[in-house]
Amino acid sequence: MFLDLFNNVAIIVALLFIAGKFFENRPLDQNPPLSSKVYAGLGAGLLGSLLILSTIEVTETVILDLRHIATITAAMVGGPVSAIITGVIIATTRMLIHGVTTASILASSIAVFMGLLLGYISTLPINKINKYLVMNVSYILMNSFALSMLIASPSLLQSTLLFSVSTSIFGGFTAYYMTEYIRKSNIDKRNILYYKLIAESSTDVVSTHDKKGTIQYVSPSCEAVLGYKPAELTGTNAFSYFHPKDQLRTAPDKVLKRSANKTIEYRFKHKDGGYIWLEATFNQIKGLREGSDFIYSSREITERKLMEQELMDMNQSLKKLSNLDGLTGIPNRRSFDYALMKEWENAVQHAHPYSFILFDLDRFKVYNDTYGHLQGDECLRSIAEIVPSLLREQDFFSRYGGEEFAIILPQTSEVAAKEVAETLCKGILQEELPHINSDIKPFVTISAGVATLRPTDETDYTTIIDMADRALYQAKEEGRNTVRVFQPTWSASRS
Ligand code: GH3
Ligand code: MG
Ligand code: MG
Repeated sequence: MFLDLFNNVAIIVALLFIAGKFFENRPLDQNPPLSSKVYAGLGAGLLGSLLILSTIEVTETVILDLRHIATITAAMVGGPVSAIITGVIIATTRMLIHGVTTASILASSIAVFMGLLLGYISTLPINKINKYLVMNVSYILMNSFALSMLIASPSLLQSTLLFSVSTSIFGGFTAYYMTEYIRKSNIDKRNILYYKLIAESSTDVVSTHDKKGTIQYVSPSCEAVLGYKPAELTGTNAFSYFHPKDQLRTAPDKVLKRSANKTIEYRFKHKDGGYIWLEATFNQIKGLREGSDFIYSSREITERKLMEQELMDMNQSLKKLSNLDGLTGIPNRRSFDYALMKEWENAVQHAHPYSFILFDLDRFKVYNDTYGHLQGDECLRSIAEIVPSLLREQDFFSRYGGEEFAIILPQTSEVAAKEVAETLCKGILQEELPHINSDIKPFVTISAGVATLRPTDETDYTTIIDMADRALYQAKEEGRNTVRVFQPTWSASRS
């Protein structure tokens, strides 16, 4: 008897497994098409028929089977349509096996009635497990009533009922558990396919790596973006394709520590040998898959990076240009102001003196009148070329404005600064740039004002300009082509 019961459970399990495979891609839970309900009914009908054939002998005269479990399963998975089909198949099988007798007509009618009843219960607005319980209890009540009509001996009735109820509960719950298990694993399988499809339809490259960077999975889009087929990348180390300069900065543990934003930009070696820029967002995967610790979603940003680089280069050259004088190419007034302020701060901090030379071309108006403005420009360019060779490495030379030039001499005493100014004066004269209408010399000459300052509380960084300007005025007054050093005793300022 127990072997019979075991056989029945084995039949239930085997058929449910086959049905699970069959319905893998025909989900019965969300508005299935009529065809799926019919298939479920036919399948459960086959199960019911097999269960009729494999009866359980309780005593020599009392024989039971678990056919109702087929109808309950049909009702649970496919609703009324499936349950009725199963009921009809069971009824037909019963007739075919035992012929058309009063007992088989009664049994067949009960089978069809069960199909209708269980089909109806399947439509009730109650949850799954309760539905299952109601179906089972309905069957047990009906079957118990039928048995009590058929079996006269109270003791036989009692033991039969006990057996019938317990096998029904045991078989019923085995079937319920199996159906649910198969249904859930089919949902999981479909979900895997669904998410795989999402990953594989993305133009971004989706990949998973272990802690060392070994690629576990990479989506097919890698061929279009990186040039490699997925099989060529899988198992290799992702970081080995990173540009050496980007490897340290993009190490996952570093990025994870850095911020909540897990986006990295790096260069990746394309199969054609060149590097492309990628932007990747990544996340840690915890315990989902052995060996997969990080998931990356990467897209190419080479074009954006090139544009950024171009903009940065342009910015840099603009910055350079904005600090240089357009005519002579030497630092302009803006750079001069900055350099003088820095030197002043330096001098304040270290309490050392610094010097400043302001020089101006003599009779330059006349020069322009004689040779024309364009030649005047050329002359200014020549001065800008000559002067640096007459200065020391540390001196800062700039165009102050018009035909005036300024030189900052860091950590330089008055004596040394005067010497530099005189070298300039002589050096420029020695170049013998023609200036035939000058009343000083027939060559271009300059006058220079020199000032030296040890910063105090009363001075600011512009004080030294005023001092040198006054010295320059003095040089002009005293004949030009000469150098004057600022004297603190001077009271009059240049107007
Ligand atoms: P001084 O000896 O007193 O310095 O006489 P100067 O003629 O040089 O002085 P002034 O300030 O009267 O004239 C400066 C001239 O420099 C006037 C201006 O046309 C000329 N100048 C200023 N900037 C430029 C320039 O960029 N190019 C040219 N060609 N001439 C310039
Ligand atoms: Mg001038
Ligand atoms: Mg001048």
